[in-house]
Amino acid sequence: MKDTFTHKGMRKKLVETLVKKGIANKEVLAAINKVPRHLFMDSGFVDHAYVDKAFPIAADQTISQPYTVARQTELLDVTDGDKVLEIGTGSGYQSAVLLEMGIQVYTVERQNELFKKTSLFLPKIGYRPKKMVFGDGYKGLPEFAPFDGIVVTAGAPFVPKPLLAQLKVGGKLVIPVGDDVQIMTVFERTSAKKFEKTEHGEFRFVPLLEDKN
Ligand code: SAH
Repeated sequence: MKDTFTHKGMRKKLVETLVKKGIANKEVLAAINKVPRHLFMDSGFVDHAYVDKAFPIAADQTISQPYTVARQTELLDVTDGDKVLEIGTGSGYQSAVLLEMGIQVYTVERQNELFKKTSLFLPKIGYRPKKMVFGDGYKGLPEFAPFDGIVVTAGAPFVPKPLLAQLKVGGKLVIPVGDDVQIMTVFERTSAKKFEKTEHGEFRFVPLLEDKN
C-alpha cells in the first residue's frame, strides 16, 4: 500500500490531462492530485491507474474514468463541509475524491461483495465516509436527507423521484440518464417545488440496477 514519487508524478500528469480536457475546478483537481488511485485497483493493474480510462474492479463493476469523476464532482458544485450522497460506491474512488475536498460523504452500494470490500478498504487508507450503506440507491437515504448534492455513478434509465426529494433547496443532483449511452444531467433544486435541468454531454456507465444482491 505504497504511494511513491513515481505514483505522485503519474498523478500530476493525469491532472494536467484533465485540465486539458476542460476540468477547471481547483478543489477537484487538488483532490485528484491527492487520492492514490492505484490503491483502488488490483495490484497487477497499477500501470492503468493513472491513465484517463475506466477500469474493471470486482463483481463486474468498474472504477469510473478519472475525467468522469472529475466532471461529476465539478458539476456537483460542492465545497468543504457540504453533505453529499453518492449512489454506487463501487471501488470507493469517487468517495475518496469527495472526502479529500472536506465533504461529508454518504454512499450506497447494492452489490454486497463490493460493499463489504470497499467498506473495509476505505478506512484502511484513511478515508472515512459518514455512512456506507448496503442498499438500493433508487431510494436514496431518506433518514439522512436533505443533501447539498447527490451524485449517481451508474447509468439510470430514469430519474428516481426520491433522489430529487432528498435535495436541499440550492442543491444539485448529478445523474447520467439513459440506457446504452447516458446524458450527464444536472437537476438544481431552485425552490421546494422547482428543479432546473441542464445537460452536459454523453457518457457510458454500468447500469443502475434495481434492488440489492
Ligand atoms: N463510484 C464508483 C463507480 C462504480 S460503478 C467508483 O468511484 O468506483 C457503479 C456502481 O454502482 C457499481 O458498484 C454498482 O454495483 C453500483 N450500483 C448499481 N446499481 C445500484 C443501485 N441501485 N444502488 C446502489 N448502487 C448501485
